[in-house]
Amino acid sequence: SKPHNKLHIYFLPMMSHGHIIPMVDMARLFARRGVKATLILTPLNAAHASKTIDRDRELGMEIAIRLISFPSAEVGLPKDIENHSSITSPEMSQKMYKATELLQQPVENLLEEDSPDCLVADVFFPWASDVANKRGIPRLVFYGTSAYALCVYHVLNQQKPYKNIESDSEVFVLPNLPNKIKMTKRQLPDYLRDGTENHLTKLIEKITESEVTSYGVVINSFHELESAYSELYSKVIGRKVWHVGPVSLCNREIEDKVHRGSKISISEHECLTWLDSKKPNSVLYVCFGSLSYFSNVQLLEIAMGLENSGREFIWVVRKEKKTNEEEDWEEWLPEGFEKRLEGKGFIIRGWAPQVLILDHAAIGGFMTHCGWNSMLEGVTAGVPLIAWPLFAEQFYNEKLVTDILRIGVGVGAQEWCRWPDESKIYVQRKDIEKAVVQLMVGEEAEEHRSRARALGEMAKKAVQKGGSSYNYLSALLEELKLNNN
Ligand code: UDP
Repeated sequence: SKPHNKLHIYFLPMMSHGHIIPMVDMARLFARRGVKATLILTPLNAAHASKTIDRDRELGMEIAIRLISFPSAEVGLPKDIENHSSITSPEMSQKMYKATELLQQPVENLLEEDSPDCLVADVFFPWASDVANKRGIPRLVFYGTSAYALCVYHVLNQQKPYKNIESDSEVFVLPNLPNKIKMTKRQLPDYLRDGTENHLTKLIEKITESEVTSYGVVINSFHELESAYSELYSKVIGRKVWHVGPVSLCNREIEDKVHRGSKISISEHECLTWLDSKKPNSVLYVCFGSLSYFSNVQLLEIAMGLENSGREFIWVVRKEKKTNEEEDWEEWLPEGFEKRLEGKGFIIRGWAPQVLILDHAAIGGFMTHCGWNSMLEGVTAGVPLIAWPLFAEQFYNEKLVTDILRIGVGVGAQEWCRWPDESKIYVQRKDIEKAVVQLMVGEEAEEHRSRARALGEMAKKAVQKGGSSYNYLSALLEELKLNNN
């Protein structure tokens, strides 16, 4: 038994904005509930989180950062790459995973020094279960996705319902799930479709093992959003599952909502003043997360689709980093586009204060790639969604939007995006225009909006005292304390 009764928990996120942002928020959430929280981050990633954490510390929370250096040189990545958002090829991505394996020893050293009571580690560190078990402390897995997506994934992986499907575009139904979910082979990752073995399939095997030897899974979601899936998932893996989100709601201050994940590319003031001048629910927010890049031809289709829809919008554009970045920026924009749309369209080049924008009353819709954080942030803000899945579990999440929660429409994306790709158009301007109009105006739009709003209310209740996520976290902390005595 320990002399102190304050729990000390380590949080280890994968080096990607979509994983770091919710993990940092989760650590802050735990710290608010009287836990000593320590985040393990690499120097570049820590730089973004430190401001918020400093502010929390001033408010009396016990929250710290411990640095581990990222083994870029060892795996042959450029020195300044410590985050998936700068990865532009499958080869680089493979090196990134190699690097995560090399982090085991430095993390073990830190655990040795600090002797925390629990390790919350991202799913991409399967070795974390062994390391924790060796020290006799619980390891909690953090996936960065929903219980819903984990169930879908499980069914695909175990029951292979696509096995006897010949064509890529033939629709099949996923068996044994609470809802009837339809998919096509084109929407599945390559390793499932072709059954090829590579570094990813090996990693997935390790992940599955480490899940079974873990203490349980913490999920950034709330029970009411996916109760049937949450119970199913827990049954399937034989482990407990705690829903503690939406963790983005721990950002109450404007400053916190602004400085998440990366250096902001515009003055947040500029963007909010612009929104202040707009009618409630009138502006569409368009953003595809932190990893994806579109080709110039696809960007042009988006520009034209948005313009032709006649709706007002904020559009976040990420471009692959080129050396002559300045010149490269505008070559895809249609002639006179910004001038024509002055006052109607606001383009953010780079990184946007997303939760701040979504919370603004003028935002009436969100075109999203259905990355889990973005989707949940949209749901939390009570905003209806246009689903434009690009890769990974985003294609399952689209069904959550359109068929299960019924809070939005799909844009018609049919297959995984592949980068780098200079010439591919995944969705045409007319389909973009149609989806935008469908989401923003008319009777169906109102139905989507009112369901989205109700979910947003539920999300906020879940994290308040007595709410489901609040209670889950209380129960988890009680259990960890007992475990510790
Ligand atoms: N994000 C942001 N500004 C941007 C782009 C993304 O704040 O311009 C945040 C967004 O709010 C979310 C995260 O980055 O918290 C992206 O995670 P998600 O799971 O949606 O997608 P991923 O980037 O992993 O594909």
